[in-house]
Amino acid sequence: GTGRVVVVGGGFGGATAARALAALGHEVTLVERQPTYWTCPFSNAVLAGLSPMEAIAFGYDALRAGGLTVVEGEAQGIDPERREVRLGDGALPYDRLVLSPGIDLRFDALPGYDEAAAEVMPHAWKAGPQTELLRRQIEAMEDGGVVAIAVPENPFRCPPGPYERASLIAHYLKAQKPRSKILILDAKDAFSKRPLFEEAWAALYPGLIEWVPVSLGGKVVGVDPGTMTLRTDFAEHRVAVANVIPPQRAGTIATAAEVADATGWCPVSPETFESALVPGIHVIGDACLAGAMPKSAFSANAQAKVAAQAIDALLRGGTPGPSKLINTCYSLAAPDYGFTVAGVYQPSDGALAEVEGAGGTSPLGAPAAVRAAEADYARAWYGTITAEAFG
Ligand code: FAD
Repeated sequence: GTGRVVVVGGGFGGATAARALAALGHEVTLVERQPTYWTCPFSNAVLAGLSPMEAIAFGYDALRAGGLTVVEGEAQGIDPERREVRLGDGALPYDRLVLSPGIDLRFDALPGYDEAAAEVMPHAWKAGPQTELLRRQIEAMEDGGVVAIAVPENPFRCPPGPYERASLIAHYLKAQKPRSKILILDAKDAFSKRPLFEEAWAALYPGLIEWVPVSLGGKVVGVDPGTMTLRTDFAEHRVAVANVIPPQRAGTIATAAEVADATGWCPVSPETFESALVPGIHVIGDACLAGAMPKSAFSANAQAKVAAQAIDALLRGGTPGPSKLINTCYSLAAPDYGFTVAGVYQPSDGALAEVEGAGGTSPLGAPAAVRAAEADYARAWYGTITAEAFG
């Protein structure tokens, strides 16, 4: 028959899963701590002054109207024996639990970078007040200033995100503060869609963006918000604006539920997204270890649908079907300049592996009309996925 499903986290993964499970006839309760969800997708456009915060803000009225229960509150713990989610006031029983808590930032990983430092050197890697803070700093900066973006090692939320961010901030600086510069200090030697980004930067923002890979001393090993300094093994950079994106891990509730392993992320079955560590709990989205799938809203949404189908089958006493998932990450280098990387994934040796030859990236050297069309597709994708999750 049907069952009671609790979903923790009302982001792209959780909201999609909750709606899909309610549509399949189950009794669904979604637990989300914030009344407003600001999407990370298109938050880089807000940083560039291209759209207002309201354009990326969503609430949960449509979910409530759709027949599921939304509880505004914090899931504080899980009792997997009694199958209960503990809230501040009481507990919610479940037959199956879905966790989609997203990421938490590791404030223990980068010397000098704690919660207080993030109020001076924003990460803006969770959208909301952090996005507004970084936008204000970029707006207040004088012409000629340096905006630094510190990028962590893999894995982290949204692999192409830092480079899209550099591009769109450059779009703003080129028009408003043309003597300024963007310095990307990277803990890696490669990044997602690098040839496409570098082609765009050469065409749109020559000399404006400098990328420093780890082999040339890019890895930030310490920060001092008092002097606005970023330290690497090679140099100290004093900058006007510091966007520090620290290492990450699965949202804290995953650790509390003991579904995260020593990596800080959650191993799952690639067919059902059920935890490899605790039965009855499914982990989707950024928090899970999804093999070759990147941590994206597109992935979280796709995983939510696969997990919902699997949970439906399990609750009805059936067998979950085979899974095959798609991800497409759009990036904007300018409002009329977009490109993508896409992949198809299926289980192989217990993990999600990329289906060879099925994905790919936008072509290099494409005409402007193709880039403009892809920027339109990016906006259309955003409209579709936010409508599916929240609309
Ligand atoms: P989230 O969307 O973070 O949702 C988690 C939710 O759980 C939050 O609302 C949180 O409040 C809630 N929560 C956590 N713990 C608890 C608890 N204990 N109790 C109650 N509530 C809790 N992806 C794309 O596909 N395309 C893009 O263009 C794109 N651009 C991006 C740009 C930037 C700058 C960044 C940072 C990310 C971008 N992403 C993009 C990635 C995307 O934002 C994430 O992959 C996606 O949000 C993951 O969804 P999720 O459900 O796992 O987590």
